[in-house]
Amino acid sequence: MEIYADNAATTKMSKTARDAMINCMDEYYGNPSSLYTIGQLAAARLSAARETVAACINASPKEIYFTSGGSEADNQAIISAAEFGRKKNKKHIVSTAFEHHAVLHTLMKLERQGFEVTYLDVHENGVVTADEVNAAIREDTILVTIMYANNEIGTIQPIKEIGAVCRERGVWFHTDAVQAAGHINIDVAGQNIDMLSISAHKFHGPKGIGALYARKGVPLTNIIEGGAQEKGKRAGTENLPAIVSMAAALKEACGNIETNAEKITALREKLIEGLKKIPHSRLNGDRYIRLPGTVNFCFEGIEGESLLLLLDAKGISASSGSACTSGSLDPSHVLLSLGLPHEVAHGSLRLSINEFNTDEEMEYIIKSVSEVVEYLRNMSPVWEDLTTGKKEFYFE
Ligand SMILES: *Cc1c(COP(=O)(O)O)cnc(C)c1O
Repeated sequence: MEIYADNAATTKMSKTARDAMINCMDEYYGNPSSLYTIGQLAAARLSAARETVAACINASPKEIYFTSGGSEADNQAIISAAEFGRKKNKKHIVSTAFEHHAVLHTLMKLERQGFEVTYLDVHENGVVTADEVNAAIREDTILVTIMYANNEIGTIQPIKEIGAVCRERGVWFHTDAVQAAGHINIDVAGQNIDMLSISAHKFHGPKGIGALYARKGVPLTNIIEGGAQEKGKRAGTENLPAIVSMAAALKEACGNIETNAEKITALREKLIEGLKKIPHSRLNGDRYIRLPGTVNFCFEGIEGESLLLLLDAKGISASSGSACTSGSLDPSHVLLSLGLPHEVAHGSLRLSINEFNTDEEMEYIIKSVSEVVEYLRNMSPVWEDLTTGKKEFYFE
């Protein structure tokens, strides 16, 4: 069996997205900045895509800026707020310890430039509260940046409540919604969001394209200099086939959010129930405040990397930590932020499923993971220490 269960890393393009991309390549090859008809036909496709993306998150088309993906959108949002803060002498930012590296590394760069960042601790269930955000905001705070849903464990943050706190305190609120867009409903106006990042390849669109929503009145700083595209905030000839394809993918995903969520949640519950039966294991993050399709488990006494290789041999594509950190031996910063010890955080497995997975596949995954965990434990010195009482188990 071949089972793709790593949709939080990237998704397969949908037929809708692929067809939209090819049609655009064939028919709308003009440069949207050109004045002749072929250029203007392309410009019309660009505007239509902007309207579609805006409608999916309840924004105005004027508030949508196309970028090369989620990472660029995160960088631009945070740098824009920092530039504005510099002028107002406000150099404090509030975030969390379990953001994506596109956010964390941008914040670290700003810290080297004299900004101060408060990284809120995440509760054991993988959620922060609006009260904690409120308590961390200071006179000199310019921005709060907190992800909508976590890419490793799938937990969802109380975005509307955090947005309300930020609005009340006069602080900008950015959220990295890359895992949320197309999977759960987003309403930037109703949730008091000032800036929001999305990326097409996480909702069956193409890779290398994303968007930054910036509420009217939030001044963006361009991080790519050059032409006047995207109202002068992001230079470079627009990647129209990818933009049009992203819009088609987002529209399709948002149109199916309820039906997909219901179907995927049922599969996820089956998966969680099955994996829970493995002794000395634990589901990471809140049982229910999570994305429909993301499941992350720790199994004591094993290494996540070995688990992945053996699962791959059984046809299952999954992930340990995040794709960006595989290849490094450091345990996931997300799992550490939940308070898990290094050794336990090493034995993690992320399965991220979608609407194309089946019940039968869940059964196969449960059976395969159970077998592989047992096999690895039988040859693990750490497991031996645990079973002989030299070390204590962390989970029951
Ligand atoms: C994938 C991801 C990103 C990066 O998006 P790219 O389009 O791959 O640059 C950022 N944040 C989160 C939460 C993600 O899951």
